[in-house]
Amino acid sequence: MPAKRVLSKSRIMNGMQCPKYLYLSIFRPELQDAPDSSREQVMEMGNRVGELAREEFPGGVLIEGDYQDLAGYLAKTQAAIIGGAKVLYEAAFQWKQFFFRADILKKAPGGKWDVHEVKSSTKVKEQHLLDLAVQKVICQDSGISIRRTYLMHINNKCRHPDLSNLFQEEDVTKEVDSHLPEVKKEMLALAKLIASNEEPEHEIGPHCTDPYPCAFQGHCWKKIPTPSIWDIPSLKQWTYYEQGKIRIPQIQQLKLPPLASRAVEAHIKGERHLNKEEMRTRLKDWKWPLISLDFETISYAIPEVNGTGPYENIPFQLACSIWPGPKEKPVVADFLDTESADPTAGLTAHLVAHIPQKGSVVAYNMSFEGNVLKRLAERFPRHKKALLSIADRLVDPWPVIKAAVYYPEFGSSFGLKSVAPAILGQKAGYEEMGVGDGNAAQRAYMYLRDPKNPEEERKRLRKGLIAYCRKDADVCLSLVKWMCQQCGMLR
Ligand code: SF4
Repeated sequence: MPAKRVLSKSRIMNGMQCPKYLYLSIFRPELQDAPDSSREQVMEMGNRVGELAREEFPGGVLIEGDYQDLAGYLAKTQAAIIGGAKVLYEAAFQWKQFFFRADILKKAPGGKWDVHEVKSSTKVKEQHLLDLAVQKVICQDSGISIRRTYLMHINNKCRHPDLSNLFQEEDVTKEVDSHLPEVKKEMLALAKLIASNEEPEHEIGPHCTDPYPCAFQGHCWKKIPTPSIWDIPSLKQWTYYEQGKIRIPQIQQLKLPPLASRAVEAHIKGERHLNKEEMRTRLKDWKWPLISLDFETISYAIPEVNGTGPYENIPFQLACSIWPGPKEKPVVADFLDTESADPTAGLTAHLVAHIPQKGSVVAYNMSFEGNVLKRLAERFPRHKKALLSIADRLVDPWPVIKAAVYYPEFGSSFGLKSVAPAILGQKAGYEEMGVGDGNAAQRAYMYLRDPKNPEEERKRLRKGLIAYCRKDADVCLSLVKWMCQQCGMLR
């Protein structure tokens, strides 16, 4: 009889999200989507958070080994327990074919143990409770008695350089225990599914992205035609999907939100919607000079810049175009600092020196730029007035486009990367750029921060980073020019 297939905790979690996810990852791994390029970065960050969390429980025994040698991990864990260890890091346990390694296990009175699970999020989420329930089921049924279960997460009140309160711990024993019967039942059902070797029937649904994006969406979503109801903005797609309505004509006669209704009409007629009057009304208070502003930021789970907290957006780059008037050419005033530990001081000085004291500051989806500016104003009181004046003058093309324009090419998104190429043509697209999105910009920044990385690649990425941020500012300003032309404000 073949040995039973071992199911790790992450596989069990995949299976609880969708049994087909588990089945495909074991039997049809070749159908997986290409891995997300930010995955490595996220894993690296998770490892650093995990290592730091261990320092809260000093003197423990780390169970190490070859990642494929599960029996080795189990044997080392038992040896450490028998040897009287009070704290274990990465201890391994198995019940039936279910296997997991506990972040931190601490001895409690009465021969029991407490489990401390470490997460990089800033709060407890439902999936964390299920994760801990899986751990508790395996421990209890393999003879390890668990007293309490704790979730250690990042404390968003922590500020660099004082990391003494980086973690916040919550006792979630009661919540985890309430999930135990259902989780144990699900785990046994998953084991049965894998033993049967039969692909489960499972429809697509909100579970394809919640709580985690499934790696098989490319495969399962192939049956959805293009265009479909997923190309319509402002629509509760799953409600219609459950009624068997997938194609746009199937929802044409229904009462829909105005934005969705406009988009349906544009798709059916193959026409572009443009309301020049609405656009003019919304643009009339924008003032010259028009200043296009775009930040690139980095955020750290473990804060690295003085006075900043976990996941705070730290700007290291900006692209700024100052367009004095309709007959003049825009002037560029960009900034990038990949050398300083804290790039924000130089960036703030640059902003204050270069952004004119009058005129509208254009940022696509301006709440991001607004929050960055307000946070800089808190951190640099000397420049508070100037920074808040920039924030107060922010104007946003995004709601203008949303209210006055819809092209079928937008699909369901009004993001700059959907809207700009549709309106301005492929020259406003981001394909074939060395650095082509915000995540790639963050990865490039991290690479450039390390002087040990090869100089040639650093040069290439620096160029790519400069080009990417500039492109955002250029595209945004071109969109504004286009809007002004459409409603006769620029002749
Ligand atoms: S894409 Fe959706 S239906 Fe398909 S395996 Fe993933 S979660 Fe399940």
